[in-house]
Amino acid sequence: MILAHPDGQVFSFDAGTLCLELACTSGGEGTRRRFEVLHEPSDFARWAARSRLDLPGHGIDSAEVHTTEANLRQLKRLREAIWATAYAIATGGPPHDHDLRIINDIASGPGVVAQLDLATAATTWRRPVTARQLAAEIARDAVETLSRPARDRIRMCAGDNCYLIYLDTSRPGRRRWCSMQRCGNRHKATTFRGRHRGAQEHGGTQ
Ligand SMILES: [Zn+2]
Repeated sequence: MILAHPDGQVFSFDAGTLCLELACTSGGEGTRRRFEVLHEPSDFARWAARSRLDLPGHGIDSAEVHTTEANLRQLKRLREAIWATAYAIATGGPPHDHDLRIINDIASGPGVVAQLDLATAATTWRRPVTARQLAAEIARDAVETLSRPARDRIRMCAGDNCYLIYLDTSRPGRRRWCSMQRCGNRHKATTFRGRHRGAQEHGGTQ
C-alpha cells in the first residue's frame, strides 16, 4: 500500500495483513480523521482493489462492487473496532468486548464465493461481489489476526508520533518501523546527527 501523509510524504507501508490495511491506511475517527481515504461509498471499492483483497486478481472490477452509505457506515464501525483492538494489543491494554462483538458479528456474515475459472485455471470470485461480503472477509481476517498466535506479532511503529500498526511477518519478528522510507530513515538520520554531535563534543575536549 502506498500512503500519502498529510505532511506531503508518500511512502510504502506493508500492514502485514488485510484487516490492518483497513485499520491503518484509511484513517479513522478523532485525530486520525485527517488520514481518511473513505470519503464516499465508491471509495471503498477503489481501496479494495488496491488492498490485499486484490479485486483484479480475482477477476473483479472495482466498478462492479456496489457500496451503499449503510455499507460504508458498517465498514467504518468495523475499522474502528479493529483499530481499537489492535491498538490495545500493541500497547498492552485490554481489548473491549464491544469491539470484539462488532468484529465477530460482521465475520459471521456470508463472504465471497471462490470458484475455479475453467479458461484460466485461476481462482475467481462469483459475481456479484458485494461490499457486505468484502466486509465479512476483512472481519474474518481480523478474527485470525487478533487471536493467538498472530496477535503476539501486532506492533505499533516505534517512530515518534507515528501510530501505524502492522502485523510483523518478518522471520525474526523484529520489525520496528512502519516503513524504512519514513520512520526508519528518520531514526537513522537522528542517530547519525547524535553520533556526529557526540564526536564533535568529544573532539573539543581533547
Ligand atoms: Zn512510522
